[in-house]
Amino acid sequence: MARYRVVVDRVTCIACGAAPATCPEIFELGSDNGKNRVVEKYSVKTDDSVSIGEIPEELYSCAKAGADVCPVNAIKIERIE
Ligand code: SF4
Repeated sequence: MARYRVVVDRVTCIACGAAPATCPEIFELGSDNGKNRVVEKYSVKTDDSVSIGEIPEELYSCAKAGADVCPVNAIKIERIE
């Protein structure tokens, strides 16, 4: 089963809330700096500037929907083996 890496550029993020509203299973506005981050369950690294997560294939469409609504293109998704 494929897995996907989700990378949120928290510097570019303008904290509009669209991604968390679209896919709350993966995204949330952080209590640290108010920017989007990958939820703790899937996060592998989160700091002020970036949040990186790994998700199972069944959540790909959710993550993609969140990335697609981002007005500043701050979310990237790549397949990992
Ligand atoms: S949609 Fe983009 S700008 Fe809005 S909270 Fe998500 S990552 Fe940030």
